[in-house]
Amino acid sequence: MDTTIDISVVIPLYNEDESLPELYDWIKRVMKEHGFSHEIIFVNDGSTDSSWDVIERLAAADKCVRGIKFRRNYGKSPALYCGFRAARGNVVITMDADLQDSPDEIPELYRMITEDGYDLVSGYKKKRYDPLSKTLPTKLFNATARKVSGIKNLHDFNCGLKAYRKEVVKNIEVYGEMHRYIPYIAKNAGFTKIGEKVVHHQARKFGHTKFGGLNRFVNGYLDLLTLSFLNGFGLKPMHVFGFLGSIMFVLGFIAVVVVGAHKLYALWTGTPAHLVTESPYFYIALTTMILGTQLFVAGFLGELVSRNAQERNNYQIEKEI
Ligand code: UDP
Ligand code: MG
Repeated sequence: MDTTIDISVVIPLYNEDESLPELYDWIKRVMKEHGFSHEIIFVNDGSTDSSWDVIERLAAADKCVRGIKFRRNYGKSPALYCGFRAARGNVVITMDADLQDSPDEIPELYRMITEDGYDLVSGYKKKRYDPLSKTLPTKLFNATARKVSGIKNLHDFNCGLKAYRKEVVKNIEVYGEMHRYIPYIAKNAGFTKIGEKVVHHQARKFGHTKFGGLNRFVNGYLDLLTLSFLNGFGLKPMHVFGFLGSIMFVLGFIAVVVVGAHKLYALWTGTPAHLVTESPYFYIALTTMILGTQLFVAGFLGELVSRNAQERNNYQIEKEI
C-alpha cells in the first residue's frame, strides 16, 4: 500500500452520472501532467441514477479510484465527512461532481498548501455562471458569514472547490448542512491560516442543482448561529445563561424593592395606598424574576449536558514532545 499520497480528491455526488466520466478524465489528465500521486474518492450520496455503476467501472480500471456508497441520500456534509475520514493524501481537495469546478486549479491549490503554508484554501468563484436567484443571496450570505466568523478575507464560504492540509480534515467534524461553514469550523478548531484563490467556474453542463429553494437560507443562518454559539460558549453555557439570569433577577429584585417601598411609605404616612398590582413595577418584577430563574436553570442544564458530552475534553493538540 502507498505510504504517502500527495493528493486525495474527495467528490460528493448525488445523481451526477453524466458528469462523472468527463470529470474523472479531466482530473487524471491534470494529475498525470504534474506527476502527483493521488486517489479519487467518490462519495455517492444515495444517487438513484447510475452514478454508482459508473464509479464501479472506473474503480475496476484504476486503483486510484475509491468509492463510498450511502444507502440513502444524507446530504453533502455527511458525504464530505465520510470522504474526509477515508482520505489518505497529504493534501485533500474537495470538488463538486457537476463539472462546475475545474480540476485545472488543483496544482496551484496544492502549492498554496504545501509551499505557502495554508491550512485551508477556499475557491472563490469570482465570475459565476449561476442564475441571479443564486448569486444575489449568496453575496448576502457571505457578508454575514464573514462578519460572524471573523474570517475577513473569504468571499465565497460555500465554494465546493477547497484544499486542506490533511490534519484539518482529520480534526474537524462536518455534519448536518455545515459544509457551508467549513472555514469557520476549521478556524474554531485552531486552523487559522485560511486563504482564498480565485477559481474558474462553469455553468452546469448536465443535470440540475441540488440546492434550490428558500429553506436553505433559513437553515444556513440557523447553522451560523449554532456555530457562533458553540464557539462562544458551547463549553461553558452557565457563563452566558447564568449571567443573563442574574441580571434579570437583579432587575426584578430592584423592582420588588420599589413596589414594596412605595406601599410601605404610603402605609406609614397614612396616605391611601394603591394595590401593588396597579404599579407597572409589579409586572416588571414578576416577569424579570421568572425569566431570570428560567435562564439560570437553562444555564445549569446546559452545564450538566456539557459535562456529559463525550467531546467535553476534546482539545486540538498540535504537538507534544
Ligand atoms: N450533493 C450531494 N448530496 C446532496 C446534494 C448535493 O452529494 O444531497 C453534491 C452534488 O452532487 C454536487 C455537489 O454536492 O456534486 C454540489 O451540488 P450542486 O452542484 O447541486 O450545488 P450548486 O453548485 O448548485 O450550489
Ligand atoms: Mg454545482
